Amino acid sequence: MREIIQLECTACKKYRYSTTKNKRKTTDRLERKKYCKFCRKHVPFKETK
Ligand SMILES: [Zn+2]
Repeated sequence: MREIIQLECTACKKYRYSTTKNKRKTTDRLERKKYCKFCRKHVPFKETK
């Protein structure tokens, strides 16, 4: 089962990505480096909740 989650910019907390994750494989909070258009650089994004 894949669940839709949101990845939030850890720097400004304004920008979010929607993505999916496999709940079976990924039990921890997802963290991924992505481009934030508010910060205008690559920053770590963390799963919200
Ligand atoms: Zn940001």
